[in-house]
Amino acid sequence: MSAPAVIKREPLLAQLRQTRVWDVIVIGGGATGLGIAVDAAQRGFSTALIEARDFASGTSSRSTKLIHGGVRYLAQGNVKLVREALSERALLLTNAPALVKPLKLIVPCYRTLEREFLRVGLGVYDALAGSRGIGDTRWLSRAETIAQLPGVRAHGLLGGVAYWDAQFNDARLAIALMRTAARQSAVVVNYIEVDRIELEAGTVSALMARDVKTGERFRLCAKVVFNATGVWADDVRRHAHGAAPSLTTISRGSHIVVPASFMPGASGMMIPRTTDGRVLFAIPWEHYLMVGTTDVAAPGPTWQPEASAAEIEYIIDTARDYLQSPISRGDVLTTFAGLRPLFSPTAAKATKTISREHAIVIEHGNLVTVVGGKWTTYRKMALDALDQAVKVGLLDARPCRTAGLKLEVDDSIETACHEAETAAFAGEGTDSITEFVALAINHEQAHYADDVIARRLRVASLSDYAVSRVRPIVSAALEAAKKKGHSNEWP
Ligand SMILES: Cc1cc2nc3c(=O)[nH]c(=O)nc-3n(C[C@H](O)[C@H](O)[C@H](O)COP(=O)(O)OP(=O)(O)OC[C@H]3O[C@@H](n4cnc5c(N)ncnc54)[C@H](O)[C@@H]3O)c2cc1C
Repeated sequence: MSAPAVIKREPLLAQLRQTRVWDVIVIGGGATGLGIAVDAAQRGFSTALIEARDFASGTSSRSTKLIHGGVRYLAQGNVKLVREALSERALLLTNAPALVKPLKLIVPCYRTLEREFLRVGLGVYDALAGSRGIGDTRWLSRAETIAQLPGVRAHGLLGGVAYWDAQFNDARLAIALMRTAARQSAVVVNYIEVDRIELEAGTVSALMARDVKTGERFRLCAKVVFNATGVWADDVRRHAHGAAPSLTTISRGSHIVVPASFMPGASGMMIPRTTDGRVLFAIPWEHYLMVGTTDVAAPGPTWQPEASAAEIEYIIDTARDYLQSPISRGDVLTTFAGLRPLFSPTAAKATKTISREHAIVIEHGNLVTVVGGKWTTYRKMALDALDQAVKVGLLDARPCRTAGLKLEVDDSIETACHEAETAAFAGEGTDSITEFVALAINHEQAHYADDVIARRLRVASLSDYAVSRVRPIVSAALEAAKKKGHSNEWP
């Protein structure tokens, strides 16, 4: 196996400084934008992606970490979305097996009618996956349910329905996409923010962007500009037209993280009905149990969304009926929240009823905004976005081959990451953390301590205690790299 590519900032910036017209510029380095950059570069288009902060620092590192068809969407009758997502699930399991793994989910049943309903519903879910299914949906006896889902409330339990989906490391999958795009010769750079869009004769003639680290300014031109900025999509559109009406409604989803002892098995639990008509997951994640999520209207985009006290109470209350030992507020180790950019160009309605399908909107001739969707379907969203740009004549037709494209995941880096995470949680050994920081700098465009703690290692959303212990080690390693000249050109 060849050594992983080194990705340095300065040569990337040098390409952004050139006076040229790119085929494609992507604004935003979350799942949507990175997927578009991979697709465009793989089709052979000259491609640049600029991200204002770090890759996946928006919604794409704050998901429930499921690659799934979405049982809830099936209950809503959205068969197309479920079928599409199940197909994408199969591709991800093949193309990034180190980061996307099958996960058994169990729905505990306490009512006979519910059991029959779930058996049928999850059977249909399985059937929709067809030959791309991961494992059979199966009825578990009461004893099997307790054995496979230790910690489930035993009182009144009839049994459970087991079905399969997949779990993934969202931030590391984003890094894999960044590296895959770079492998296809795309220029993919973080900490570059678009702050102005110039129009000429009604179309986008240039993007004005700023290096957030140094203040350097860039003027970038492209045949087509993809706006993949999630909950900031309307802000970016308003750089082109200040009075542009909103395309999105923002919904916040929060999770709590508690000790794994509440449900110490390898399977996740799906709670099929919540008081607000949704589902809730309790999923083993790294060394902890993650429980969520919620769906509440959020006033606007923010870089650091936080779970409200009411959401934390709601999650604890909902889980209470399903756990042998109820969670109390003091058991919550940490929380994290993400913002859903839901496509909703018309008047506001309850966010949980807004479709999770993606939308592609072309304005000013060549500004293509892509919003909505799910992490699971990022590849299909990119394919649709590129095809749409071809259809309106912005790009020439070339085949998309991302379905068979292995993502750039390096085994040695993943092993180093795993060892560093283990050391971080165990509170012992600094060497593996220091060694991983060097890899994150050289191969993954990490610049700041939070880039490493929150997105290269997955410590930040799991344990505030581990973060406080790891931060000084990571900061010292970054400083040392900077002094040695290994830094990604610090300001
Ligand atoms: C709580 C929650 C749970 C979820 N769980 C799941 C799940 O389990 N499975 C699943 O499939 N999906 C899930 N999703 C959906 C999924 O996470 C999102 O659909 C996806 O991450 C959206 O990615 P994005 O790239 O569109 O947005 P983002 O990840 O937010 O990326 C947008 C990027 O644009 C950048 N940006 C903004 N303005 C500018 C600018 N001016 N210049 C340059 N860059 C800019 C931002 O910094 C950001 O990085 C969940 C969503 C939420 C909120």
